[in-house]
Amino acid sequence: MTWYILGAGSLGCLWATRLARAGQPVQLLLRDRQRLNAYRERGGITLSEDGRDSLYPLVAETVGHAGAPIQRLLLACKAYDAEEAAASVAARLLPGAEIILLQNGLGSQQAVAAHLPRARCLYASSTEGAFRDGDFRVVFAGRGHTWIGDERQGPAPAWLATLNDAGIPLDWSDDILERLWRKLGLNCAINPLTVLYQCRNGELAGHAEEVAGLCDELGQLLHARGHTDAARELQSEVERVIAATAKNYSSMYQDVAHGRRTEIAYLLGHACAEGRRLGLGLPRLNALHERLRGLLRQRGLPEA
Ligand code: NAP
Repeated sequence: MTWYILGAGSLGCLWATRLARAGQPVQLLLRDRQRLNAYRERGGITLSEDGRDSLYPLVAETVGHAGAPIQRLLLACKAYDAEEAAASVAARLLPGAEIILLQNGLGSQQAVAAHLPRARCLYASSTEGAFRDGDFRVVFAGRGHTWIGDERQGPAPAWLATLNDAGIPLDWSDDILERLWRKLGLNCAINPLTVLYQCRNGELAGHAEEVAGLCDELGQLLHARGHTDAARELQSEVERVIAATAKNYSSMYQDVAHGRRTEIAYLLGHACAEGRRLGLGLPRLNALHERLRGLLRQRGLPEA
């Protein structure tokens, strides 16, 4: 069974190269002819791992190509591209096709699932880290773990073990939404402040009261959504992450520093929208969202 990989960026390449070297058939789906030509000039994907570069000449085609039907797809683009990217391959998906959605935050997964009602959409949450240091070059920067689950329940697919065998450490989650909400809560309490204060994660220890105020409102939100354990544990988890990643710049900080679009609409934006839907006040989160949008506007970056 071929793994189709839509989104040959950091995580897409990290998955594609590991699957390919484990002998799994892999096919990349690239944006257009121009990207396909650029890929061919490079001769494949280069994975940099533990200081060593390896070239993987994987098969690639454009998303618009009328190729073979797709049973298994990894959607590895950013949250704001997910719905359009999924729509571009919809006609090739077999009924019951399985799609792993790698997007951070929440909201894009549900949009894709609504767009593709005949497919089985599985959501992933990953602590692995990778970045691109060139076109079709990816650096495996942080070992981590991935959880996959189905919002609509249903059994774990039999092929999960193949992913572990390919060196992608992964487990099935019976409550993937809770896992994604926990991660979203952490992100909302840390990342926007690192952008506004232009600081590393650790410097937020000097803004403890502000962080605690955000945790309080995020806790209310998690509680209202029924994630009571996550709500109770949020503040201590946030403090643990701030201490453990003190020297790091958050992903949102790095996106803004590099003039890249952020995934704010699927993180803080989603939290505020969900708060409104549930009738919660959440004044600190809403004010933070407004401040962050103002900063993005000033920098000429999209506010959503
Ligand atoms: P990325 O490096 O920006 O890669 C995204 C890729 O998607 C790009 O190669 C882009 O193509 C491609 N793409 C977008 N729209 C497309 C379309 N319509 N057709 C074909 N290709 C399309 O992003 P990433 O860092 O891998 O992140 C992917 C998701 O994983 C994000 O939600 C991110 O938050 C999450 N995540 C990332 C990490 C990490 O360490 N990187 C860790 C955890 C979670 P072009 O190259 O042509 O622009």
